[in-house]
Amino acid sequence: MADTPETTGEVQPAAGGGDVAAPRAPRPYRSQIPQRGPVASALAPAAGFGVTIRNFFSRTVTEQYPFETAPVKPRFHGRHQLNRYPDGLEKCIGCELCAWACPADAIYVEAADNTPEAQFSPGERFGVVYQINYLRCIFCGLCIEACPTRALTMTNEFELAGPTREGLILEKQDLLAPLAEGMLAAPHPMVEGTTDTEYYRGEVTAPTPDQVDWVAEHRPDDPTLAAARDRAPGAGAR
Ligand code: SF4
Ligand code: SF4
Repeated sequence: MADTPETTGEVQPAAGGGDVAAPRAPRPYRSQIPQRGPVASALAPAAGFGVTIRNFFSRTVTEQYPFETAPVKPRFHGRHQLNRYPDGLEKCIGCELCAWACPADAIYVEAADNTPEAQFSPGERFGVVYQINYLRCIFCGLCIEACPTRALTMTNEFELAGPTREGLILEKQDLLAPLAEGMLAAPHPMVEGTTDTEYYRGEVTAPTPDQVDWVAEHRPDDPTLAAARDRAPGAGAR
C-alpha cells in the first residue's frame, strides 16, 4: 500500500501555506457484537454443559458403518456398470463417447469389429477393452449422460477403496453386469431378422431358439444354456 499522510501521520502544510493541521487521534474500536452482562457471563459455562446434557439424552445418529451400511438415495452415483440386452448381448458398442465426455480422463475404451463367429453386441462394433480408473473418477455422471445406448449406468455401490493403485482400475469384466436368469452369454448372433434398431427400441426381450441352438452348437458346456432353453421353448427342436 502506498504511504499517505493518513498512514504515516506526517503533518502536511495547510492549503495556501497557512497553519499546519494537527494529526487526528485514532478512534477507539467498538465491537458491534452485543456484550454479555455479568450474570450471563457467570452462567455461560453452565449453559455450555446444558447443550451437552441435552444431546446426551437425545437419539443417537452415529452410523455404525461398516457394520451397518447406511442406505443411499436411488440416484446415488456409485460404481459404473456395463449393461446387457435381455438376450445377453452387450449394450456397449465401443463408440468412446463416454471417454470423450469424461472431464477427468478416467475412461479408456478400445473397440473391435463383431463377426458372425463372435458377435458381442448388436451392430458392427463392441468394446473389447473398457477401463475406468477410480483414482481419477469424480463420479460426475457425464459419461452415462453421453452414452447413446444406455450401456453405461451407475450403481449404488460406493465401497471402492483398495490397497493398490492397480486394483482401482476396473476392467471390462469387473464392470459388466452379471447375466440375469435366462440370458445367454455373449458371443452369439443377434435375434434373427433384427438390426441394432430393434434392440435400442427394447423389442428384444429374451433369447430365441435359434440363438440357444447356436450357443449349444458352439459352446455345448455353456452354463447359461439350461436357463436360456427354459425361456426359449422350441430350442433344439430342429
Ligand atoms: S463419472 Fe465423471 S469422472 Fe467418473 S468416469 Fe464418468 S465422466 Fe469420468
Ligand atoms: S459405454 Fe456407451 S458411450 Fe461408452 S463406449 Fe460403450 S456405448 Fe459408447
